[in-house]
Amino acid sequence: MDVYVRSGDSVWYYSQLFKIPFKLIIDSNRDINPQILSVGVRIRIPGHVTIDYKIVSGDSLWAIASSRNLPLDALLLVNPTLNPTRLQIGQTIKVPVRVTWRIVNGKQNYDYSTMINNIRQLQTVYPFLQESSIGTSVVNRQIPEILIGSGEKRVHYNASFHANEWITTPVLLTFLNDYALSVTNQTPIRGLGTFPLYLQTSLSIVPMVNPDGVDLVLNGIPEESPWRSRVIEWNDGSSDFSGWKANIRGVDLNDQFPAKWDLERARNPKSPGPRDYGGESPLSEPESIAIADLTKRRDFARVLAFHTQGKVIYWGFDNLEPPESEAMVAEFSRVSGYEPVQTIDSYAGYKDWFIQDWRRPGFTVELGTGTNPLPLSQFDEIYEEALGIFLAGLYV
Ligand SMILES: [Zn+2]
Repeated sequence: MDVYVRSGDSVWYYSQLFKIPFKLIIDSNRDINPQILSVGVRIRIPGHVTIDYKIVSGDSLWAIASSRNLPLDALLLVNPTLNPTRLQIGQTIKVPVRVTWRIVNGKQNYDYSTMINNIRQLQTVYPFLQESSIGTSVVNRQIPEILIGSGEKRVHYNASFHANEWITTPVLLTFLNDYALSVTNQTPIRGLGTFPLYLQTSLSIVPMVNPDGVDLVLNGIPEESPWRSRVIEWNDGSSDFSGWKANIRGVDLNDQFPAKWDLERARNPKSPGPRDYGGESPLSEPESIAIADLTKRRDFARVLAFHTQGKVIYWGFDNLEPPESEAMVAEFSRVSGYEPVQTIDSYAGYKDWFIQDWRRPGFTVELGTGTNPLPLSQFDEIYEEALGIFLAGLYV
């Protein structure tokens, strides 16, 4: 919701008027200097929208405000040209409404355009979220990153490295939505006040590392796509891509990282296909390059990559992980019921590379059980398990 500064207004006043943390209004208006607000400047108020209300006989502005638990001045602020003593029956005014509902609906076939639409909607309601593109996919889709929080501790979560594990995207974005809702309305999640987390951490979210692969699994391959004949051939002639994990060039993005890549390569397919082909060299694919570049640029303290399935959390690589990884995974396990597993016979993954090159905690979290793609009927259960890990990743 936008308001326009009047003489005498301040950001502090707005934070009192709408009962929103001062810091969130500041972070929603990064182009504004709060010390010198000019009259007429637009200020974004997070967590609020306006609805239209039609005046009926007997209405007063005071009654409209008090019936909605709003200060009268909140109504005056969003209706700057209104004359409060001359309300007309049938006249439409704007009424601010606090957003208390989720914007993200995770229980749907969550393809790339659904994600982009949800990110736009989240940014409109929560302008303190910062969105940017970390690069483009093979077929030129922008790969978005969203930042939330203003703290020193830099944390990174990503999802949908693997195409048929796309349910991880709406699970992660539902958390982003719940977190934004919680900090704005100061409503705890599982008894935990989240505003301190916002002040202590900067959370980077890349909700769909592999957008071309996700759309291939969910929507199939369009007739006009230049990749059509190749992906069908690589898929053994089938146009059912539900077993597809790779990007659209048939490269498994989580076998692409320079962490014992040769060992992984030696035992894996040597040509493009639905899964496990690591490419002709490490970091040959635009999606893995984008996430690697982001990781180098941001200097993350810890990373969590969300996959399906197995209800396990992998937390080691080649004994290079730092001691704190074990204590962290113990907390992740406690809050989710998932089993910690230090190492498996697997290399060249994103978290392997992060542990190897930074010697900081990196985790691969395998959500849910069953056969990928996991059905949406598991969404609520998976979200409940993942939620504990999402929170713990910020507070431990
Ligand atoms: Zn996976």
